[in-house]
Amino acid sequence: MTGKVYLVGAGPGDPELLTLKAARVLKQADVVLHDDLVSTQILQLAPARAQVRNVGKRCGKKIVSQEEINFLMVTLAASGLQVVRLKGGDPLIFGRVGEEIAALRQANIDFEIVPGITAALGAASTAQIPLTHRQSSHALVFLTGHSASGVDLTNWRALVSLGATVAIYMPGHRYSEIARKLRAAGLSADTSCAIVSRATTPEEQLFSTNLQGLKGAPMLPAPTLLLIGEVLRHAGNRLSFEEVEACWPSSEPSLVMHTDSEYLGSSGAARGDEEQGA
Ligand code: SAH
Repeated sequence: MTGKVYLVGAGPGDPELLTLKAARVLKQADVVLHDDLVSTQILQLAPARAQVRNVGKRCGKKIVSQEEINFLMVTLAASGLQVVRLKGGDPLIFGRVGEEIAALRQANIDFEIVPGITAALGAASTAQIPLTHRQSSHALVFLTGHSASGVDLTNWRALVSLGATVAIYMPGHRYSEIARKLRAAGLSADTSCAIVSRATTPEEQLFSTNLQGLKGAPMLPAPTLLLIGEVLRHAGNRLSFEEVEACWPSSEPSLVMHTDSEYLGSSGAARGDEEQGA
């Protein structure tokens, strides 16, 4: 009898954001192959007899190659086991699931995809940002700040002309570069931006600024997500731009919930943001 692979989204961090279906398949797993960012509380849902293995990245470097992950999924399922491939957020977004699906199809292994809450939705909920708004944004774009080839394939002009809210995954330390490209493509310097670090976890931090101030943004601990767009003006109190503008010149980056000196001393900040996906 052959087993099956479940490609499961673990959500952005808060274990309560796991779907009931994800919890059910985890409870029935023989093997769990998980990414680095998945919380211990979620992993503890797997039965005690299950093999649980971290196949994620450490300090931006993969500890198990994608080919090895594909091989493990195929051979374990072929030997009759129920394999859960557990990924942060949603498995279909910046999670290399395309390569995994191709390997499973090629080996004729039965698989199922269990969606999860992607980081942009977790971060927007935290900051109470409506990602679309009847008056200011009719589109939402999920973009990666990191490309495997190092070549920037984004058509920034097309992106800006769409008037979309932009969620940039894996922004890394490229805040200046991202701001420069968006400005060159015609986006106004006072467009609101927010960096959300470790969204939906107890270590979550928010930083609000505008496109001009983005280059001076602090390196918050990874994983971080960058949200850009007019909709940020409708954010909740934790990201209040009205309040921020009353206290800070609009060209300066503004901290929400923290003071500048706290960040200046934060050497533990972002250890690179490409620990998953890309
Ligand atoms: N499949 C995942 C994305 C994988 S790419 C998803 O759907 O969310 C990894 C990137 O996701 C990180 O570099 C970061 O940009 C973002 N990310 C994941 N979890 C996050 C969190 N809790 N807070 C902020 N960003 C997060």
